[in-house]
Amino acid sequence: MEGAPVALGGPRGFAVTRTLPNRQRRMVGAWCFLDAYGPHDLADADGMRVGPHPHTGLQTVTWLVGGEVLHRDSLGNRQEIRPGQLNLMTAGRGISHSEETPRSHSRVLHGVQLWVALPHAQRDMPPAFAHHADLPVVAEAGLSATVLMGTLAGATSPATTHTPLVGAEIRLTAEATLPINPDFEYAALALDGAATVDGATLKPGPLLYLGAGRDTLRLGTDAPARLLLLGGEPFEERLVMWWNFVARDHDEIVAMRADWADATPRFGSVHGYDGPPLPAPPMPITRLVPRGRVR
Ligand code: MN
Repeated sequence: MEGAPVALGGPRGFAVTRTLPNRQRRMVGAWCFLDAYGPHDLADADGMRVGPHPHTGLQTVTWLVGGEVLHRDSLGNRQEIRPGQLNLMTAGRGISHSEETPRSHSRVLHGVQLWVALPHAQRDMPPAFAHHADLPVVAEAGLSATVLMGTLAGATSPATTHTPLVGAEIRLTAEATLPINPDFEYAALALDGAATVDGATLKPGPLLYLGAGRDTLRLGTDAPARLLLLGGEPFEERLVMWWNFVARDHDEIVAMRADWADATPRFGSVHGYDGPPLPAPPMPITRLVPRGRVR
């Protein structure tokens, strides 16, 4: 599934490739959003500058292949993240945050930004933020994999999940076989280099949807490659995703948008970011319709 090029912050903004949601599919498990960016050379560019903006009903997952990102949120957290570390922000009923390239930074920025939809029972939970610098690593012949979220090959991430899912970065050096959960649907994205996944060639750009029912993944490569593996139990609730909000119907989105526009306490405020908060776009003329995981 090919990704769509998107410029964050307008046409002169930061270029990303969005592979979730896409034309065929909105979700893989509870994973409902995937932007990949870079490697961007920051020698004469600003890097990432995403001003304060709100979220609801989801978790944001920040993962870097190269470089640094500085996160600030309305709970008062200020956290720089580097490759191999996980920033996990649980929006619940409402939070706001900013993300930027720190003043002192590496020359190259390369990473992914993901969202995980919260299920009905947890979608209005209090907001939270966690930084995980010590994630479990699975070593198998031909690969080592860092488990960001959930469980892979017996190794479980300390990150809090609310539905059965997995996210892992696989560093592949040779042919390898990885045990996976046949009850999960999976997708894979090449972060760096090329690989084969159950015979299909995968290069940076598109998301390879693998479906459910497999108990192993056969991986191959001619040169060291890095893959992102996402999986989860198919998410059966219907969602409305609009701007930075995940909700269940149009009227919830209208209320969230109004709370941000009116600066009610729901989203708090972010301190220390050098720039204005992002305004919500206008609501569409037609009512937003809740949709399932497949188009
Ligand atoms: Mn965000």
